[in-house]
Amino acid sequence: MYLAGNSLGAQPHAARAALLSAVDDQWASVGVAGWEDCGWWATPQRLGDRVGALVGAARGQVVVGDSTSVQLFGALIAAARLRPGRRVLLSDGGHFPTDRYLAASVARLTGLTLVTAAPDAMAPDADTAVVAVPAVDFRTGERWDLAAIVGRAHEAGAVVLVDLSHAVGVMPLALDALGVDLAVGCTYKYLNGGPGAPAFAYVATRHHDVLDPPLTGWTGHAEPFAMTEAWTPAPGVGRLRVGTPPMLSMLALDGALEVFDGPGSPDLAGVRAASLALGDAFLAALPAGAADTDVVTPREHGRRGGHVAVRVRDAEGLCAALARRGVVVDARPPDLLRFGFAAPYVTLDDARTAARELAALL
Ligand SMILES: *Cc1c(COP(=O)(O)O)cnc(C)c1O
Repeated sequence: MYLAGNSLGAQPHAARAALLSAVDDQWASVGVAGWEDCGWWATPQRLGDRVGALVGAARGQVVVGDSTSVQLFGALIAAARLRPGRRVLLSDGGHFPTDRYLAASVARLTGLTLVTAAPDAMAPDADTAVVAVPAVDFRTGERWDLAAIVGRAHEAGAVVLVDLSHAVGVMPLALDALGVDLAVGCTYKYLNGGPGAPAFAYVATRHHDVLDPPLTGWTGHAEPFAMTEAWTPAPGVGRLRVGTPPMLSMLALDGALEVFDGPGSPDLAGVRAASLALGDAFLAALPAGAADTDVVTPREHGRRGGHVAVRVRDAEGLCAALARRGVVVDARPPDLLRFGFAAPYVTLDDARTAARELAALL
């Protein structure tokens, strides 16, 4: 029973096949010609469009590559450069650690003042350059109201950067329709891309002409093989490419995405409904006392992401004890156990068994 898909998704058969094929049929025999002949060079944008389809982005706005942390760094600075003269970077105070650490560093680099608030309590004003929020809180599993956040930010003239790491692949998203400016997200959680799978970055088309990324690597050049003196940005999101893409990880992700867009794949509305049903089954199977006092995730479907978090004493110990009983979850300090409901491979039985095993241990 694998309920850690919010941390590292299970391995899709197609990811394994794609990785083995990349090693045996491409790298081994094609060698350097693979950059053209196997389409390696175009992969960051080709996969970007596939991920884009899962987050409500029209083609040409998403690129895949590097880690979420590297993408965040670039996106935070590029976002700030869209609003020169404004002095505040407004970020979620409870954001995932890497998002908080990078926001602090970017504030120092750019001279912006870092102000933190909870996403639903943010009050951007005429001095706010960037509003940075997650779509779903990594600890509590609370899903934030992106429409409201974008509305308030745009009213104040700020741009919005959303981290989709805990949302992509477990719910439909509508970046274009919501008017989100920039977004990043990881592909090894609900997208099952494998350990360290490359992250993605989204920039809305309306910003492409002036998009000014800080990491001006050669693969983001308009003509990388011209090897010119100065950096000229590639058109659109292509300029967010930095160095040589990690092709083996990318091709594993290429296979993994078939879960969501291959033949017979479920649509994300179905995945979302099934994930919520799994969470409901888990919550219903928890003993009443524990359910009333210790579940920190909102019960309303509209305010819940893909995982449910339970506050316990000794989260680490319980996590290990659950694993010994065949239920894989994860623990987050100081006191949370997280149960991830990735509908493609978690069953209602798994969800109920996890709740019963937890109750027995408690
Ligand atoms: C998982 C996660 C990350 C991961 O960052 P990496 O650079 O891939 O390690 C970043 N931000 C959030 C919100 C996450 O949930």
